[in-house]
Amino acid sequence: MLTREDSALAEVRRRHEIRVLESLVTHGSRTRKDLESDTKLSRTTLSAIVGELRQRGVLSENDQEIYGTGRNGRPTKVLTLNPNAGAAVGVELGRRRISVSVKGYDGATLNSEQRSLADNLGMAEKVTQAAALLAEMVQEGRITPATLLGVGVGIASRHADPRSLADGGERQLDPQGATLDPLREVLGVPLLWDNNIRLAAMTQALAPGNTSENLLYMVLSAGISSAVVVNGSLLRGGNGIAGEIGHISVDFDGPQCWCGRRGCLERLLNETNVLQEAGQRGQAFESIEAIAGAVEAGNSVACEVVDWAGGLLARAVVSACVLLDPNRVVVAGELSQFGERLLAPARQALAEQHLDIGPRTTSIDMASYVPTAGSDGAALMALRHWRA
Ligand SMILES: [Zn+2]
Repeated sequence: MLTREDSALAEVRRRHEIRVLESLVTHGSRTRKDLESDTKLSRTTLSAIVGELRQRGVLSENDQEIYGTGRNGRPTKVLTLNPNAGAAVGVELGRRRISVSVKGYDGATLNSEQRSLADNLGMAEKVTQAAALLAEMVQEGRITPATLLGVGVGIASRHADPRSLADGGERQLDPQGATLDPLREVLGVPLLWDNNIRLAAMTQALAPGNTSENLLYMVLSAGISSAVVVNGSLLRGGNGIAGEIGHISVDFDGPQCWCGRRGCLERLLNETNVLQEAGQRGQAFESIEAIAGAVEAGNSVACEVVDWAGGLLARAVVSACVLLDPNRVVVAGELSQFGERLLAPARQALAEQHLDIGPRTTSIDMASYVPTAGSDGAALMALRHWRA
């Protein structure tokens, strides 16, 4: 059993470790002397930290001629991060799929894996299956628990309590319906979890090369999920439910939504209702993909349906843009197959609105489908949290 003093010591050690890792991520390779000055750690502390990191396989120490030879005539030794050392694991517990991503200290993907799930599995069963998949990956050497800083978990239809966002002095509160302990136990590292779509949005915002500090991310499929990134951080709100654009009403006299209000975007633009709308306009389609194909072929009912959907989407997107002023709006999910025609009304409505405060730059684009977006985002969030 760890005492409070033990965990305080472990925490200090962990922070020292992270200073060493940060320096190596920034500079590539460093001599022990470089690290001393980068981290301001004493030689003894540094030596203990480096020793342990080497033992765990996070670092290696090699002769490197580029640094020349030391006073004793021997080549200078440099420390380098092991490129195969995973720093964070991301897990997405989706509606019908488990996805795992392993990220290195620099955020690069080292490994990933996906498994389909049977329909209507409960949370507890999904956790059990995900833990089994992680155990397999550990056994195969694709995840090395000793090199990890933490694990991030993205969960469909659950939102983290904004007062409890990661394991720290205390464990993060579990989502409704299951404990995440099996995931903590199989890797032996701290965990953080949040809504999978929020974490997928962070992939858009944090992935190397992306600089969407202010982003509205929407997934239009069986339902509508969405997330907002403000100044590089997820917007969670006081109750943890911020950013659910699906429940902005776009028609106050429209049909009743399960949330109790009328004409919510989700009530109108869920897949089933879009197919019904096509039926009411005179042609039945089997799938969203079929409507998208028919649009390409110039089918008039299909074109009308997409224009109708685009008009409703525009109402919600423009309202959200007035409130949040994102630089990017990214639309993903099944309905993104409708392509540019779906986005045109929102672009036009935004262009026609003159908020004369200054120039407004907001792009509206489709996201290309990346099956690992949720688990990538979960790993990136874990990396960001435990490196910070
Ligand atoms: Zn609603």
